[in-house]
Amino acid sequence: MQQRKKIVAGNWKMNGSLAANAALLDGVLEGLGQPACAVVACVPAPYLAQVQARIAGTALALGAQDMSAFASGAYTGEVSAAMLGDFGVAYAIVGHSERRQYHGETDAKVADKALAALAAGITPLVCVGETLAEREAGQTEAVVGRQLAAVLEKLGDQASGMVVAYEPVWAIGTGKTATPEQAQAVHAALRAQLQSAGDAVAAQPILYGGSMNAANAAQLLAQPDIDGGLIGGASLKAADFLAIVSAAN
Ligand code: PEP
Repeated sequence: MQQRKKIVAGNWKMNGSLAANAALLDGVLEGLGQPACAVVACVPAPYLAQVQARIAGTALALGAQDMSAFASGAYTGEVSAAMLGDFGVAYAIVGHSERRQYHGETDAKVADKALAALAAGITPLVCVGETLAEREAGQTEAVVGRQLAAVLEKLGDQASGMVVAYEPVWAIGTGKTATPEQAQAVHAALRAQLQSAGDAVAAQPILYGGSMNAANAAQLLAQPDIDGGLIGGASLKAADFLAIVSAAN
């Protein structure tokens, strides 16, 4: 069987400045070389042009942290997929738990965003994940299954163009990482669900996100169904991010 593609994507969240970004990119690009896996920086929208210019000709790809489900029009403050495309954005995170939690994004909205990304030639990184209360109630697989089903249904034949990221909400930014076994169990369930949509869909990578760092990445990435990482805090330090890229290679 062909090996699945690996992806390590940094999510800078609402961090950075022109100066801080320049220093971070210098550090990452100095050590990046030509990695076997895809490496992505999902940056705040105002810095897309800065990052696009700096990464030209390197192995680092550009990502966005969110995007509108709409193509254009009276949606004040929103950024469309086509606008992202103008800056060379190749990936867009959709359905991050911080968007679901603080901006009321529903499963249906996330699915619409994933479809809009694909229409613009952008790979959606579709985040799914349970809260601590849901995990403790034994609902993890039901929750992530519901979140993924909404996207699979909406995308239909195009689902093979998306990448899923399993991000347990209780592990994001908390320093509490899912154990490799906990993460693998959910990834296996997600893989089975993707398989029900066909071989091409199941062949797409599934990323883990939630306090992945230089110390725990190798163990997580050694799991059979963990094909990369979506990295928040550790993506803001070049050495840590590069260590995770090395673990994925
Ligand atoms: C994230 O924001 O997607 C994330 C996984 O954050 P952290 O690595 O900081 O937990």
